Amino acid sequence: MLKLHDVIKTYDGKSEVKALAGINLAIGAGEMVAIMGPSGSGKSTLLNLLGGLDVPTSGQVVVAGTDLAGETEKGRSLFRRSKVSYIFQAYHLMPTLKVSQNVALPLHLAGMATGEIEKKVAQALKEVGLEARGSHLPDELSGGERQRAAIARALVTDAPLLLADEPTGNLDSARGAEILELLKTINRERGTTIVIVTHDHNAASACNRLIKLRDGKVEGDSSVSGGAA
Ligand code: ADP
Repeated sequence: MLKLHDVIKTYDGKSEVKALAGINLAIGAGEMVAIMGPSGSGKSTLLNLLGGLDVPTSGQVVVAGTDLAGETEKGRSLFRRSKVSYIFQAYHLMPTLKVSQNVALPLHLAGMATGEIEKKVAQALKEVGLEARGSHLPDELSGGERQRAAIARALVTDAPLLLADEPTGNLDSARGAEILELLKTINRERGTTIVIVTHDHNAASACNRLIKLRDGKVEGDSSVSGGAA
């Protein structure tokens, strides 16, 4: 699903920063992987490369059959729309749109027919347990419900890869645990490959594999017992 070969990412500034200093990594389809590491270790940079938001300075990033380093901006844009979905710590829902409209947004952007969109949205809301909340505004939901809405928006395109940036960071541990259970269910039932950047040890325990970054390098890579199957 995902292969990185000798990936280096440097940022130019007053002095050059090597955010990623030679990453080699393979993640198979259907894995659920946590990425942990201290602040500045390169986690966000890595997530941006996997999501096709940025390109490496050198090396190869192949995700879902697309060689992102060699792709044009147009190719990466198509990749972002069809192959990958994102969830974030702060949910990033549109505050003026109802929950169902938020979930429908990626399908509208893809040009899907209205009837088909309604079906898909209803299905996604049901999958995350928000079927009764579609006509509410995000403001009217709890934090856990907002993250569920964001997950529904991520599911609705059936992308094979879900990238999560601190998905439990704004939630108390009970709500966080519910979100992790939901992600595990999605991973198991849909086979979606899930990569979670996190500081939350509970999130790491929910995964089947833990990758530790330090100074832009992979410091550890181990399987997690008791996590996702
Ligand atoms: P993490 O997500 O683990 O905190 P980042 O990937 O954000 O780490 O950052 C890795 C390194 O790259 C840090 O030293 C950071 O300061 C630097 N960095 C990240 N983004 C930029 C940028 N846009 N310009 C310059 N330096 C950056």
